[in-house]
Amino acid sequence: AEEAELQELKKKAKDLTYAKDTSLSQFTQLPLSTKTSEGLTKANFVEMTDVQRASLPFALAGRDVLGAAKTGSGKTLAFLIPILETLYRTKWTQMDGVGALVISPTRELALQIFEVLKKVGKLHSFSAGLLIGGKDLKAEQERVNKMNILVCTPGRLLQHMDQTPDFNCDGLQLLVLDEADRLLDLGFEKSINAIVANLPRDRQTLLFSATQTKSVRDLARLSLKDPEYVSVHAQA
Ligand code: ADP
Ligand code: MG
Repeated sequence: AEEAELQELKKKAKDLTYAKDTSLSQFTQLPLSTKTSEGLTKANFVEMTDVQRASLPFALAGRDVLGAAKTGSGKTLAFLIPILETLYRTKWTQMDGVGALVISPTRELALQIFEVLKKVGKLHSFSAGLLIGGKDLKAEQERVNKMNILVCTPGRLLQHMDQTPDFNCDGLQLLVLDEADRLLDLGFEKSINAIVANLPRDRQTLLFSATQTKSVRDLARLSLKDPEYVSVHAQA
């Protein structure tokens, strides 16, 4: 039954005609695995916000997305759901290593994302790690290669890339740059470029930002491929 669901999902998600369906309003209308759907329902997420409605169909179809929507509009689920679905569809296991990376500007924001991931991804069997500094590096180094989804701040991720033996993201499927405008404001441009240079080119990238500045567009040009632009101005 699970295999049949998987085949059905792969077919539906790639079909962008559903993305053009303007009546999309609830998560259950998206081609999602039962594990993700139930995770969302259990966390009381039913109606999609505007940015979720506008970006999820493209992200689920494997497209790169540049999403601009203000704080509080629901960008977290707009990237966590595609991460869960992409890894589920490729039958990612703990042995496959790092499949998805979320880069966040601050420890607090990274922690919030991690909490939402634990809640919504609860029924999946992926391993997830939070790499934010201020914690014991050695203990992290022993576990980091077994993690499938990493939520990180740029400095700590680079530290692992430089210092952790065998750490690699060679199989990475999906990169998320969250709060891109703040990443740049905080001076992380060079770090991001160094990280991206360490990642496989053949991946999906989602970039979210509260504002669309020139520097965000420059970063997008370097990290995204033929992105779908999603800009939501109204209150979600
Ligand atoms: P952003 O990253 O755009 O600032 P968040 O992803 O942090 O926004 O979401 C802001 C708030 O909205 C959170 O409390 C979150 O739980 C809630 N939220 C997000 N999506 C939904 C949804 N589809 N239905 C109900 N609440 C939602
Ligand atoms: Mg956010």
